[in-house]
Amino acid sequence: MKILVCAWPIVVISLIGLLASLEAYTVIIDPGHGGSDPGAVRPGAYEKQLTLSTSVMLAAELRRLGVPYVMTRYSDETCSLISRRDLAARYPGSVFVSIHYNAAQSTAASGIETFYHGTSGRALGAQVQRALIYMTGAPNRGLKKRGFKVLAKNPARAAILVEGGFISNAWERRRCQDPRYQLAVAQGIVMGLVDTFGRPKRGGGAQQLQTVHQVAAARPTRSSRARRGVVVTTFSATLGRRRR
Ligand SMILES: [Zn+2]
Repeated sequence: MKILVCAWPIVVISLIGLLASLEAYTVIIDPGHGGSDPGAVRPGAYEKQLTLSTSVMLAAELRRLGVPYVMTRYSDETCSLISRRDLAARYPGSVFVSIHYNAAQSTAASGIETFYHGTSGRALGAQVQRALIYMTGAPNRGLKKRGFKVLAKNPARAAILVEGGFISNAWERRRCQDPRYQLAVAQGIVMGLVDTFGRPKRGGGAQQLQTVHQVAAARPTRSSRARRGVVVTTFSATLGRRRR
């Protein structure tokens, strides 16, 4: 009997998890770097600016879908890694998404990768990485486990860090600076969140995502497909794939 009593909270929590959808969770958007920390810098490109503009697009997507969110920074300001991570403690059951752009010694390095630390971050990271590749057509560098400061000991129910492309690669840098590409990254993250936590009931997602496309002045859609009722448009066709 004791075992049954102990099991009840787990059953209840599991049921809540099954019934919940994305708007039940606060998404903590973390635009990487900022202020005195520019992140990676290459000609004409500052990582801290790209992460912020992509994060603002992600925030707009979530707002349209009725999903609560908070950002670790809203402007070009310096924030410690610990303060970013600890923001999750103020929002129990939140989901933490850190956005970065990559740089490497090799100017040939390209593609998108997603990092996680805990088990739940792995499930979310897998969905987000898959959606990002689908939305951008970028080379898939995969899902990786790393104990980054913002991920390790993060109190969120799931924490991931997305590296949206290499600004050390001239071709990919131009893409990363393109607002349409940044929007594709933002929408890929939303798609991964929806696939993991469920489609927002207030949604009407398809129309809302299309509206964002129009705002970004993307070219007419060439392909689309339905994923759990949310119709999205890929940008790989309009932005072009890299010729290798
Ligand atoms: Zn970074």
